[in-house]
Amino acid sequence: MQGQMMDYQLTLTPLLDRARRLFPKKEIVTKAGPTLERYTYAEMIERVGRLANALEKLGIKRGDRVATFAWNNARHLEIYFAVPCMGAVLHPINLRLPGDQIAYIVNHADDQVLFVDPTLLPAVEKLAPHLKGVKHFVVMGDKVPEGTTLTPVHAYEDLIKEASPDYPWPHLNENDAAAMCYTSGTTGNPKGVVYSHRAIYLHSIGLSMADSFGLSERDTFMPVVPMFHVLAWGTPFATVMLGVKLVFPGPHLQPRDLAELIQAEKVTLTAGVPTLWMGILHLLENERYDLSSLRGMIVGGAAAPQSMIEAYEKKHNLNVIHAWGMTEMSPLGTVSRLKSYQLNLSEAERFAIRAKQGTSVPGVEIRAIDESGKEIAWDGKAFGELQVRGPWIIKSYYNYDRSADSFQDGWFRTGDVVSIDPEGFVQIVDRTKDLVKSGGEWISSQDLENAIMSHPKVLEAAVIAVPHPKWQERPLACVVPKPDFKDKITKAEILEHLASRFSKMYLPDDVVFIEAVPKTSVGKFDKKVLRVQFKDHKLPE
Ligand code: ADP
Repeated sequence: MQGQMMDYQLTLTPLLDRARRLFPKKEIVTKAGPTLERYTYAEMIERVGRLANALEKLGIKRGDRVATFAWNNARHLEIYFAVPCMGAVLHPINLRLPGDQIAYIVNHADDQVLFVDPTLLPAVEKLAPHLKGVKHFVVMGDKVPEGTTLTPVHAYEDLIKEASPDYPWPHLNENDAAAMCYTSGTTGNPKGVVYSHRAIYLHSIGLSMADSFGLSERDTFMPVVPMFHVLAWGTPFATVMLGVKLVFPGPHLQPRDLAELIQAEKVTLTAGVPTLWMGILHLLENERYDLSSLRGMIVGGAAAPQSMIEAYEKKHNLNVIHAWGMTEMSPLGTVSRLKSYQLNLSEAERFAIRAKQGTSVPGVEIRAIDESGKEIAWDGKAFGELQVRGPWIIKSYYNYDRSADSFQDGWFRTGDVVSIDPEGFVQIVDRTKDLVKSGGEWISSQDLENAIMSHPKVLEAAVIAVPHPKWQERPLACVVPKPDFKDKITKAEILEHLASRFSKMYLPDDVVFIEAVPKTSVGKFDKKVLRVQFKDHKLPE
């Protein structure tokens, strides 16, 4: 048919070129110990060209996987563009995973070159004998530290210095693989997710939409979410596309480091998991920082407690934006933004909506299926498993024979149990495996946790199911008091706090006080560890 659009391939190369032409003066800042290293987009993009030439010299061809073992920093960003734009596949590795899983991932992905931060060298040296396919190691610094056992090994800066900045970027197909990440593997080995150029391109536009993250050239963005956790939620691609000033925290992720960096560089937008924001909130109770440059803090990866959203807004005038997503979804799924006519609701109603996971962004279709296989009504009451489809959601896992189990009629099964209200706001009741199945009822551990964390003496709380002779399972609350209230908080206080919000059958049968909630490799509550620890816990009669 005449009059159609051109067959334009959605690849990352024109986005890099756009940044080169439009934003050469914009800055990229990395915290490295006490100093802040800064350079311009012009320098970054020149080094991207050099790096592509260097990788080609090391034998990297189209489709080859190139791994990184690194914190959030400018060199990591250079790899983020050089590798996909030369047609190879970027593979950031979650450096907090156990060694055997890292070895599994590197071998499963068949990584050819592995970039490693100098600070992380010892871990990679220990694993190196198990990394069968890796042909070159590159230390992300000026020189190769003396005595390293890695071989063959190169210094990043040596490779860059010797290479030409001009690289003949190939014409790629939008369906070519650009990057891959592995899920953190709560059961069995981690599973690989491959992102195409097209998926990342469209996802970058998805992040820029005003009603999602609303990223803009005028922002200064600090990704706290690691570049090895779902590609820092895709933000490095979107920010370079738009010419956003970037501020990388490097390995410095303590609340004080982050607050100082926000203040010093006047960060306007940042993103990370809730435990991180809980830490900063706690810091702000005792120390003063000027964080007024922040227009938003995007919180996702685990449920943002309503009490946290409220405390930031009421005490510090800071706007928490709650979002939900998954590795399998690039990860953007839903963002919780009030609709225009919801701005007039009461304060309590507004916070309750903002604590939900939000409405799906354009590009992501959602439905929820109940136990009988029927789609649930969007009434805010019925619940079922959330299923999704869209241009940046996976079709199958990478080389994984049980992939089909995760799909139903072309929809991806998230494993999250949700309700959806008449306005389309998704509320995650729980992950399927975290629900407490008590008699015929399901109890949401997340609802209980959120309520407990709104108690002024509580820092963190996780609720898990423990076996019960009559009810199969009952909830146990594991509570971490704030340091000032250690030994000054009782089980009765917690139960009383919950009694007004939940009917009796939802109340935890017991409350234990613990030092800290164990965290997963990406900083989420690790309830598996608690389930093992308390599997023989005797509930009071
Ligand atoms: P993993 O947690 O296994 O490392 P992901 O980071 O991909 O892998 O996690 C995706 C899961 O995290 C979702 O399926 C959901 O259970 C949970 N999650 C993500 N964002 C939120 C949120 N805002 N609220 C509640 N749960 C969330």
